[in-house]
Amino acid sequence: MTSPAIMNTYGERKLTLVKGDGIYLWDDNGRRYLDALSGIAVSGLGHNHPKLVAAIKQQAETLIHVSNLYNIQPQEELAELLCAQSGMEKVFFSNSGAEANEAAIKIARKYGHEIGIDEPVIITMNGSFHGRTMATLSATGNPKVKAGFSPLVSGFTHVDYNDVEAIEQLNDPNIVAILVEPVQGEGGVHVPAGDYLNQLRTLCDKNGWLLMLDEIQTGNGRTGKYFAYQHNDILPDVVTTAKGLGNGLPVGACLAQGKAGSILQPGNHGSTYGGNPLVCKGATTVIKTLLNEKLIENCDVMGRYLIDQFKQRLEGLNKVVDVRGKGLMIGIELDTECPELVAKASEKGLLINVAAGNTIRLLPPLIINKEQADQIIDIVTQLVNEL
Ligand SMILES: *Cc1c(COP(=O)(O)O)cnc(C)c1O
Repeated sequence: MTSPAIMNTYGERKLTLVKGDGIYLWDDNGRRYLDALSGIAVSGLGHNHPKLVAAIKQQAETLIHVSNLYNIQPQEELAELLCAQSGMEKVFFSNSGAEANEAAIKIARKYGHEIGIDEPVIITMNGSFHGRTMATLSATGNPKVKAGFSPLVSGFTHVDYNDVEAIEQLNDPNIVAILVEPVQGEGGVHVPAGDYLNQLRTLCDKNGWLLMLDEIQTGNGRTGKYFAYQHNDILPDVVTTAKGLGNGLPVGACLAQGKAGSILQPGNHGSTYGGNPLVCKGATTVIKTLLNEKLIENCDVMGRYLIDQFKQRLEGLNKVVDVRGKGLMIGIELDTECPELVAKASEKGLLINVAAGNTIRLLPPLIINKEQADQIIDIVTQLVNEL
């Protein structure tokens, strides 16, 4: 039972998870679950990774917080590591994904004002998810997220995902940027055409727009590269990330390069504890562990294996519309709404999620091995067959 003291924004919650280790979680009755959700693409290293636990302990004993009015060594180390991984040049740290997108939106708007556009417009996609703050829910391409919260923040125009022509036809002189997920996560794990991001890059170059990628979910190794745009060999102007960056520590980042990197100036933006010593030490340890333990490579191999197996076992069934994904971001779309599968899976000891009402979404930790992947394949195949 959820305490009545909790504001009811998540509906009825059945499970109480009290302990974690690697890919496993335990509930308050001591029952073990294989975690194929990772706190929604957060716990890439699995739960309680010893390197992360040690780093947090050590930093907590040294310095938890100081203001951004001072130099913060762990923040500088993390920024440099992120720039080296991404090809970006500048980082602003926030406490969440939505706030990272807020920084990106502010960069795009100020960029517009600097080039003489007083009412800048940002293109975002139908089916997208960019967060729950007023600006990011206005950017989001899902009416359910916006319902009841008007007046919305203006300055966003929506087009279909994976539709370059729709953007070419917009013909609005106030457009300053495109904000897009390389793979749509909350929208139901939608993977665009292989050259979609390249085409968006070309369009942005031609029109003087900023290409801003929301890698809050796809970043930090989740798709089998550090960032998903690295599959496309392009460089965006702005990248936002969060989720897997902190493995559960609240940290988000807005990265930028070129002209986009110097738009925010002293006094334009800030955060009391965005990028504080504790979370930055943790996030630095997360990145180093992803690299040292070759977990991004493992993600690529295990992701291909899972998607391939699901295609073989499920694609022939009438009720299965599509099996898709990139790395360990996997969606199995069914021809009916299937929210009940979440509880049925947990009865079988597996934690999954359903996105967009009809798509089984799997986001296991990047540490997953073949035996654990086989368990997920068996249970999910069984669940779909029983449906
Ligand atoms: C989760 C998510 C967000 C929002 O992140 P929060 O940390 O919940 O604010 C934004 N964009 C994408 C693509 C996401 O997956």
